[in-house]
Amino acid sequence: MKITKLRAVNDVSDGIASLITPAGSPFTPYRLCVIVPVFNEAKGIAEFHSRLTSVMDALGGWQVIYVNDGSTDDTLSILKQLRAGDGHIALVNLSRNFGKEIAMTAGLDYASGDAVIVIDADLQDPPEVIPSLVAAWQEGYDVVYAQRRMRQGETWLKKTTATLFYRLMEGLGDVRLPRETGDFRLMSWRVVEAIRSLRESHRFMKGLFAWVGFPSKAVLYERAPRHTGISKWNYWKLWNLAIEGITSFTVMPLKLASYLGVAVSLCAALFILQLIVHTILFGNPVAGYPSLMAVVLFLGGAQLLTLGVIGEYLGRVFNETKERPLYLVESFISAYLPVSSELRAD
Ligand code: UDP
Ligand code: MG
Repeated sequence: MKITKLRAVNDVSDGIASLITPAGSPFTPYRLCVIVPVFNEAKGIAEFHSRLTSVMDALGGWQVIYVNDGSTDDTLSILKQLRAGDGHIALVNLSRNFGKEIAMTAGLDYASGDAVIVIDADLQDPPEVIPSLVAAWQEGYDVVYAQRRMRQGETWLKKTTATLFYRLMEGLGDVRLPRETGDFRLMSWRVVEAIRSLRESHRFMKGLFAWVGFPSKAVLYERAPRHTGISKWNYWKLWNLAIEGITSFTVMPLKLASYLGVAVSLCAALFILQLIVHTILFGNPVAGYPSLMAVVLFLGGAQLLTLGVIGEYLGRVFNETKERPLYLVESFISAYLPVSSELRAD
């Protein structure tokens, strides 16, 4: 039997006595740990939790870690209320909004168990799919990702841009991203450990999930429209996520910039040759202003584009060298049913 040492879970929360495991409560080692990044989900979170509970109770020992990503509505107090009545809940409260990718990372850092499930709080990822994920994990797969059969309640533009992005990533990168797959997935403990070891501050989680590899399987499901509220992703955020995805996983654009440079230089050389021949044969009528402008503008544009691409990468190098912590935790409330004495048996 392999014993894995877990990180010490230090409770820096408001110190409520009820956080401590009630004396004499039967020890239930939870096997499944659900991670839910939550940002301004006050309207739907209770409904989410009750649906999650009915699914998870049937699966054995479990805990859910809600990562409150700096919500500005009542989400935190609702989560605390839920926590008061349900020992399965652990609560990580981040010091501000860090974004979903970082919130998931925080959840993974606080997770423990034999398998970890990442799911959105807005009920677009139906908790009812979790049993099929668990079944596939029990067959021996390390990563079981939920793949959308179709997108309901999403605009044509979003569907098209999403498809285009996956195509582009497939064409450019070394890492193959599964199509129509969000962050909703189950990971075995060794996969979680592998992902935890990746500490880059520019995080594109779908890419990191794919990068670690391990035997994987897709489970198909219908993605529901958002239960309440609106998506926090606008097109500007999605565009930035796409750039993150590309620049984190491939240096292809840098290569493209060099190829563009070579191509432009070649064209320029041919053009110069043509000019020389033309001047020798027909003399120089001192026109040429349009061609001059065309060349200057084209070269200027190509240079700016290339500089921009280099800048994107340089900016990321700059951010990585700062080695800041990925997130700051304002408070942590553990679940009632912690793993016995910080040791986990495989
Ligand atoms: N989310 C988060 N931080 C953010 C934005 C979103 O933790 O800054 C959470 C949100 O509460 C939800 C999940 O990430 O549980 C997915 O967010 P959303 O539904 O807005 O994204 P979409 O489904 O449109 O990809
Ligand atoms: Mg959503």
